[in-house]
Amino acid sequence: MDLTRKLEERLGGAIEAADNVAVYYALLGITKELCADKLENAGPKKVYYISAEFLIGKLLSNNLINLGLFQEVQDVLAAHGKNLSEIEEVEPEPSLGNGGLGRLAACFMDSIATLGLNGAGIGLNYHYGLFRQMLEGNKQKEVKNPWIEKESWLVNTGIQFPVQFRNFTLTSRLYDIDVPGYESGVNKLHLFDVDTLDEHMVQDGINFDKKDIQKNLTLFLYPDDSDREGQLLRIYQQYFMVSNGAQLILKEMDEHGYDVHLLHEHAVIQINDTHPSMVIPELIRLLGERGIGFDEAVEIVSKTCAYTNHTILAEALEKWPLDYLEEVVPQLMPIIEKLDDKVKAAYSDPRTAIIDHEGRVHMANMDIHYGFSVNGVAALHTEILKNSELKPFYDIYPEKFNNKTNGITFRRWLMHCDPKLSAYITELIGDAWKKNAAGLEKLVKFADDETVLQHLLDIKQENKQNLCSYLKETQGIDVSEDAVFDIQIKRLHEYKRQQMNALYVIYKYKQIKAGHIPKKPITIVFGAKAAPAYTLAKDIIHLICCLQQLIEQDPQVRPHLQVVMVENYNVTKASKLIPACDISEQISLASKEASGTGNMKFMLNGAVTLGTMDGANVEIHDLVGDDNIYIFGKASEEVIRLYETRGYSSRAFYDGDSLIEELVDFIISKELIKIGDPENLCRLYKELINKDWFMTLLDIKEYIAVKDRMLDDYMDRMVWAKKMLVNIAKAGYFSSDRTIAEYNRDIWKL
Ligand SMILES: *Cc1c(COP(=O)(O)O)cnc(C)c1O
Repeated sequence: MDLTRKLEERLGGAIEAADNVAVYYALLGITKELCADKLENAGPKKVYYISAEFLIGKLLSNNLINLGLFQEVQDVLAAHGKNLSEIEEVEPEPSLGNGGLGRLAACFMDSIATLGLNGAGIGLNYHYGLFRQMLEGNKQKEVKNPWIEKESWLVNTGIQFPVQFRNFTLTSRLYDIDVPGYESGVNKLHLFDVDTLDEHMVQDGINFDKKDIQKNLTLFLYPDDSDREGQLLRIYQQYFMVSNGAQLILKEMDEHGYDVHLLHEHAVIQINDTHPSMVIPELIRLLGERGIGFDEAVEIVSKTCAYTNHTILAEALEKWPLDYLEEVVPQLMPIIEKLDDKVKAAYSDPRTAIIDHEGRVHMANMDIHYGFSVNGVAALHTEILKNSELKPFYDIYPEKFNNKTNGITFRRWLMHCDPKLSAYITELIGDAWKKNAAGLEKLVKFADDETVLQHLLDIKQENKQNLCSYLKETQGIDVSEDAVFDIQIKRLHEYKRQQMNALYVIYKYKQIKAGHIPKKPITIVFGAKAAPAYTLAKDIIHLICCLQQLIEQDPQVRPHLQVVMVENYNVTKASKLIPACDISEQISLASKEASGTGNMKFMLNGAVTLGTMDGANVEIHDLVGDDNIYIFGKASEEVIRLYETRGYSSRAFYDGDSLIEELVDFIISKELIKIGDPENLCRLYKELINKDWFMTLLDIKEYIAVKDRMLDDYMDRMVWAKKMLVNIAKAGYFSSDRTIAEYNRDIWKL
């Protein structure tokens, strides 16, 4: 391919003369064309991965890598005075996801395509995504995040379906995004939309009229559901997604001439969390329309659908009131009721009912009864599902339960985000690891090679410099390259315990004030969006921002300690932060983080984990061993027991320990109250003392001790570099290629 000529053609002139915006759109057009020319992965059976979220991130570089063109494009641009990473800045990042669950779906799409599997993603085309976070006055402000421009990755397929609701019928429109596999064929990500959407509905921030469904349906992911209108809107969105998905699947069956009685031989539907659960009754309904009797339809659908559970947090397991469903999708009601009747006739335990005695429909329960597979997303999580959270179901259907430990695509999370490390690994062990990540294990033989270890340290240092420039350019923050980089980036949630890290900041601040200067400066970086209605999460963001300002203004402390709250944490920010990290903060309350995938990205990029025995941290610990990870905190069994016996009292920890008291009291100290909003700070203070549902104070002392030990160990650079190397070498297990190969082997059987 003559790339220069193609670019000039699209630019209508010399590359040198074009600006970065023009070059980006030229590259977008060329890349889309190349994707369209690629062979689509095919086969007699297809997986449909249905998900409310696909947190795909920017696509240009990743697609170029997967098409095998990245180097060539970079070289051609450089020869004409252009820089690909600057051009990449032009691309808007869609926020079609909230966090780990949505990013997982995106990594899975990459791996499904890379393994050459016949598959597609099905979701919605939210025009403004989740939201874009701005930090103003030390608080989060939400604004819309538009990403669809005249030219984008979306391709209008011309495919439309009618979707019937109680009071009206909406016509959908299907847009596709091509997903090229790494040196493999392409698959499609199908995103459904409505032509009647009215973007002008959104006036200030992210507010809009939640009742005008035809105009608002695909504006936002997870619109506010604190009232009835909001909950109804979510049901409208979910039904729109699954009805379109089900119609598309049946259309493809017809096109192949397959008999729908044999649907399960040609299609498998992976239900990503409970948002797509209505696909079960919807498919039964559509099969009914094709003349298939109820019992047979149930049997066919049950052999086609598989469910992935992502959380054991009770508030996340969706339960829709019957009358809400009745209001939006009355045609599903007789089906859901019959499904519930069957369950109640067979099993008397009320915990396994689909419709509970308060008239709420438990979506997960429907998935478990009427799907053939239920999987958790890390070994510990699956064990907790089987032994406590979903035990009544495990007792009925032990054969349905299986574990699929999450993974990440190494194309984005190593090859793209850390090209230097990636090239150095290839220099050491060749590039077979790019197709078979387990090959990274070969690095172990360099564990005592000081030249190699020094090189790893040098790369980390360069990545820190890059991050510093980026933070300066984007947020105007000066960060010293010569600090230990301690990073906690993930959704803001009490169970993830950013508040515990903030208490560590207070501890260190006070230590420095008292003359105990750390051996090396420490920079603690946070990045997190809070759900707009989650008050306490916003209070925690406020505390972190106030601490940032307090320390920034204190010439005694600032040379030794810094706090940075990165604005609008997203995939782009993650790929800048992770390669520069020394200490990976994975400090959730044990039993609460189903898997985590941030932990895997950091490990792969040579950060050392500071974490609890939770989610996939347990498996990281198994792989790297005690010497190469820092574990602290109460074990999950102990935590589960504390919940069962109501044995935890934060007040007792506060009253019983003068250090804990001092740290918590600082939240409402005169220093912080002067900077911050007393309402937010006092609410957080009271919460920590009186409730602390996720047990911050239970583990805080051990957290401080282990983190300080870690900082000590950091000073012996060769010992630390060996830990880095072992982490990289053992990260192969966490490739999403491995995860997807297991889904295919055990569940999809394509
Ligand atoms: C990986 C990733 C996450 C998930 O992080 P966890 O630490 O596992 O919660 C969330 N958001 C973005 C943008 C990510 O890339």
